[in-house]
Amino acid sequence: MDDLAYGTRNKRGDFAPRDPLQVMPLWHMPPRPLAFLKWLPGYFLPWNVLFMALGALNWFALMPGVETMKTLAPGWILYVFAVNVATVLIVYGALEARLYVKRAQGAKFKYNAKFPADQPSDVFMFKSQNVDNVIRTFATGVPIWTAYQVFGLWAYANHVGPWTTFAEHPVWLAFLGLIFPMFHELHFYCIHRLIHVPVLYKHIHSVHHNSVNPSPWSSLSMHPIEHLLYWSDSLIHLILPSHPLLFLYGLQVTGTGAVVGHVGFDKIEVGEGGVDSHAYAHYLHHKYFEVNYADGTTALDRLFGTWHDGSKEAQAQMEARYEKKVARVNQK
Ligand SMILES: [Zn+2]
Ligand SMILES: [Zn+2]
Repeated sequence: MDDLAYGTRNKRGDFAPRDPLQVMPLWHMPPRPLAFLKWLPGYFLPWNVLFMALGALNWFALMPGVETMKTLAPGWILYVFAVNVATVLIVYGALEARLYVKRAQGAKFKYNAKFPADQPSDVFMFKSQNVDNVIRTFATGVPIWTAYQVFGLWAYANHVGPWTTFAEHPVWLAFLGLIFPMFHELHFYCIHRLIHVPVLYKHIHSVHHNSVNPSPWSSLSMHPIEHLLYWSDSLIHLILPSHPLLFLYGLQVTGTGAVVGHVGFDKIEVGEGGVDSHAYAHYLHHKYFEVNYADGTTALDRLFGTWHDGSKEAQAQMEARYEKKVARVNQK
């Protein structure tokens, strides 16, 4: 594939997609139903379908039986942890191996032409972004994810929470499944704005932002407090009527799904074609810090003036905002 048919490359070789990013057309005024229909497949493909499949695999094949989950015991808790470790290793590992180790498509469609492995830095443990990212992912990320998962499954097994069945409330459960990724993004927007408050940023969120040029392993490279906040979106299944299938799907959207945004390439080449990564909005957040606190399914960034769609106009707007901020700080 010729990436320059889809975007441009600057002097440094960094790729930028030609078309500006879109906010979900549902938020357009006046409504644009056709644009919404055109946008819709990208809501499911490729990521949410993968997370639905992983959620179903977890519920129907991998998770222990209800009787086992009634009692908290190290055996099945460690087993759930192992399943999550394996999922992350397979999904992140496959992307990292193909795009960053084998470099199968070189820097084609790569937002930052440089590869993190070629840029050792003191901000990382052992000066390596990858080693640092992997340690944080498995030392605190997956354990905290697993803790939420075990708690939810234990709660289900013990009838704690308003759990229901597909036979009783099929429409509601289908609706909850459909909107969960949007809810996840809304929740992420809120906790993300919070940890950008300077004091919290300094002590907590800066860990994640050390990866200015993210790769798949950066996805869950966070401070443990950010991990705790990050997966708290799963508690919605203990507040609203839900089903463990949706709970496990949601954990995939949040857990495995952190990789969306950290792939670093706009398209992943597959055969003669390419799959859209949907990574650009969050890449711009890693690059510029104060834009795109969420991706485009909430309109909150646009509402509060922090939406960067990759266009020159958005860049100028961001720079003007930044200059105003510097002027304000200098006045004090
Ligand atoms: Zn990130
Ligand atoms: Zn951030």
